[in-house]
Amino acid sequence: MGVSVETATTEVEVVVIGAGQAGLSAAHHLRRRGLRLLDDFVVLDADSAPGGAWQHRPPSLTMAMVHGFHELPDAPLPPLAPQLPARDVLPGYFAAYERDHELPVLRPVTVTSVRPESAAPRGRLLVEADRGSFAARALINATGTWTRPFVPRYPGAERFRGRMLHSSAYRGPEEFEGMGTVLVVGGGASAVQILAETAAVARTLWVTRRPPVFRDDPFVPQELGRAAVARVEERVRAGLPPGSVVSVTGLPPSPALLLARERGALQRLPMFERITETGVVWADGHAERVDAIVWATGFRAAVGHLAPLGLREPGGGIRMDGTQAARDPRIHLVGYGPSASTIGANRAGRAAAVAVDRYLKSTAAPPALASIQD
Ligand SMILES: Cc1cc2nc3c(=O)[nH]c(=O)nc-3n(C[C@H](O)[C@H](O)[C@H](O)COP(=O)(O)OP(=O)(O)OC[C@H]3O[C@@H](n4cnc5c(N)ncnc54)[C@H](O)[C@@H]3O)c2cc1C
Repeated sequence: MGVSVETATTEVEVVVIGAGQAGLSAAHHLRRRGLRLLDDFVVLDADSAPGGAWQHRPPSLTMAMVHGFHELPDAPLPPLAPQLPARDVLPGYFAAYERDHELPVLRPVTVTSVRPESAAPRGRLLVEADRGSFAARALINATGTWTRPFVPRYPGAERFRGRMLHSSAYRGPEEFEGMGTVLVVGGGASAVQILAETAAVARTLWVTRRPPVFRDDPFVPQELGRAAVARVEERVRAGLPPGSVVSVTGLPPSPALLLARERGALQRLPMFERITETGVVWADGHAERVDAIVWATGFRAAVGHLAPLGLREPGGGIRMDGTQAARDPRIHLVGYGPSASTIGANRAGRAAAVAVDRYLKSTAAPPALASIQD
C-alpha cells in the first residue's frame, strides 16, 4: 500500500506524529523491528523541512551553547564548528538521517486531532490532519514543546505599551538597540543567553521566581541529571503536568553566563507583582520603567490535538507508565516529560517502538478472522 495525504482515510498500523529527535528515534526503531514505513506506519511532521525544533532556534544559539546534544540513534554526529548556529547545522544532520535511514517523512502535515476509536473504522484511532486522515492501531506522539511557548499571567500585561515577546520569538539583541531598559523573566539558560547579548545594547533587568542556582561544574553531574529526570518521572506517573528536565539542573558556567556576568547582567530581582503601561511594580511598591519584556519562561507539551482522547487527569497532566499513556495502551508519548531531552528522546523512541510492536503482535487478529471482518 502506498500513502498519499489529502485522500480518504488511510489505514496504517502506527502513526508517529513529529519528526524531531523523539519521532525519528521511534521511526528508526519501528523499522528495525520490521515495520515498513509507508506500508505499516507513517511519520507526519508539521514543519516543511527536517530538523524538528532546532530549525527555529535563534541564530545566536551556537553549537557551543548547546549542552549535551545527543546524536540520533546509529548516526555519529559529524564534527560541527562550535561557533555555528545550531539552527544552521543540526537540520542538515537530521535531513541526512532521514535520507540515509530511509525515513521518508510526510510533511508539512499538521495533526489537528486524534479521536477515540468509535469515530474510526474497525476500532482504530482516527488521526486527523490538515492534509488527510489516518486510522491507526497505535500512536506515537512526538510533538515536542516548541509550538507551545508558555507565558505566565500577571495583572496589567494587556495594558503594557512596550514590546513584549516570548524567548521563542527572540532573534537577537539588534531589535533592542536604542531602547532604555529590557526586562528578562526566567531562571534558565535561555534567559541567561538573552541577558548576555542584550546587555551589550541596552540596560537589562533580570527577574526570576526563585533565586537562581549557579553551578561551578560545566557538565551536569550524572546524579543531578538523574535526580531531575526522576522528579519529572514521578510527576507524570502521578498525572501531574511534567515540568522541565533541562531547566532543573542549575546554571552551568557557560560562555553565555560568563559574558552575562562580565556585563553585570546577573543582578537578579524577585518576581514583580504587576505590569503597568510603562513598566513593572513589585509588592513593596518599587517600580521600574521598562521598554521591553522578554518571557524566557519555557514551554508546555504540545498535546492539544490529543484532547478528544480524554487522557488528561484531574491533576492537569497525562498519567504515564513509561512512555505509555496509562489510560490507553495504544498511545505513547516520547520527548514528553522525563524524555524531553535529546538523550531522553532517543531512549523513549526505542522504548515506545518496542512496546508498540509488542502491542500490535499481542492484539493482532488471527488471519482467518481478519479476512471475515474484511
Ligand atoms: C531553547 C532550547 C534549548 C535546548 N537545549 C538542549 C540541549 O542543550 N540539550 C538537550 O539534550 N536538550 C535540549 N533541549 C531539549 C531538546 O531540544 C528536545 O527535548 C529534543 O530535541 C527532543 O525533541 P522532540 O523530538 O521531542 O521535539 P521537537 O524537536 O520540537 O520536534 C517536534 C516535531 O513535531 C512536529 N509537530 C509538532 N506538533 C505537530 C502536529 N500537531 N502535527 C504534526 N507535527 C507536529 C514539529 O513540527 C517538530 O518537527 C532544548 C530545548 C529548547 C527549547
